[in-house]
Amino acid sequence: MPQPSPTLATRPELFSTPQAEAIKQEICAVGRKLWLRQYVDGNGGNISCRIGPNEVLCTPTMVSKYDLTPEDLCLVDLEGNQLAGRERRTSEIFLHLEIFKANPEVKAVLHCHPPHATAHAITHTVPDYLTLPEFEVFVGKVPITPYATPGTAEFARTVIPFVKHHNTALLANHGIVCWGDTVTHAEWYAEVLETYCWTMLLARQLGAPITYFNAEQVEGVLGIKRRYGLPDHRLAPREERACTCGPAIEPINALPTAEPSLPEAGSPAFEQLVRTITATVLDKLRNSQTR
Ligand SMILES: [Zn+2]
Repeated sequence: MPQPSPTLATRPELFSTPQAEAIKQEICAVGRKLWLRQYVDGNGGNISCRIGPNEVLCTPTMVSKYDLTPEDLCLVDLEGNQLAGRERRTSEIFLHLEIFKANPEVKAVLHCHPPHATAHAITHTVPDYLTLPEFEVFVGKVPITPYATPGTAEFARTVIPFVKHHNTALLANHGIVCWGDTVTHAEWYAEVLETYCWTMLLARQLGAPITYFNAEQVEGVLGIKRRYGLPDHRLAPREERACTCGPAIEPINALPTAEPSLPEAGSPAFEQLVRTITATVLDKLRNSQTR
C-alpha cells in the first residue's frame, strides 16, 4: 500500500542561491558533454540535482542538451510541481524523483541514450561483467528495468528496486539512467558503461575467448569499490540482494561463460550459424585460389 508522502515545505528561493547557480553551470556543462559524446539527440536526455530536502534542479523539456543555459533550468519539488524557472520542466522528472525518494544519499540523476548501452536495453541483455577493473569499480553489474511508457508514474517506479545497491540501470527499450553524489559523477557512470559496452562488442568481434576475473581478482576490485564507498549488490547484506537484484526481465547473458554455447540444431540461430560458417569457408577458398 503506497504511503502518502509527508508534505514538506518548499523553498523556491533556493533556485537563485550561489550553490544553485554553480550547480546550474555544472548541469549545462554535463549536458553539452552528453550531446558531444552522442549520448542524446534531439531534445533527448535529462539531468537533475537535489539542492534541498524538497527541492530539485532539473533540465527543461524540448531543449537540446547542447544548447542548455543556466536560465533554462527549472526547480521542482519532490512531487514534480514546478517551483521556479521560465521553461517547463522535463516530463521525465518522475523517474529522477523516485530515485531521490528511494535513496536520500543520491544527489544527482542523469538519463540518456548512449548507442551501445541502448543496444543492450533493446535486446534485454545486460553486458557481461568481471572483465575490466574500471567498469567493476565504477559501475559493475547493471540491472535492467521492465519496459513502461516513458513519462508515466509506472515507468518512474520501475527503477526503485535497484536504487540502493546500484548506480546505473538499463531502461528496457529506452536508454540508461545513472545516479550519484554529483551530476559530474553520474555522467562518469554513463561514460564508463557506454565505453564498456562498446569495448565488449569489439572484444567479441575478435573471435577469441574472453577472459574473466577469477575469485581472487574479483575480491581485489570489490575491495577498491568498498574504499570508494560505491554501491554494489555484491557488497549488500544477503537478505537485501534478492529484492534489489531480481530483474523483472531475466538477462540472457548475465552469467559469464568461458565458451559460447551452440544454438540448438535446426533452430533459426543454428541455420544462421551454418550459413555464416559456409560463407566464411567459401570466401577463404576463393581468396586462396586467386592468390
Ligand atoms: Zn529517454
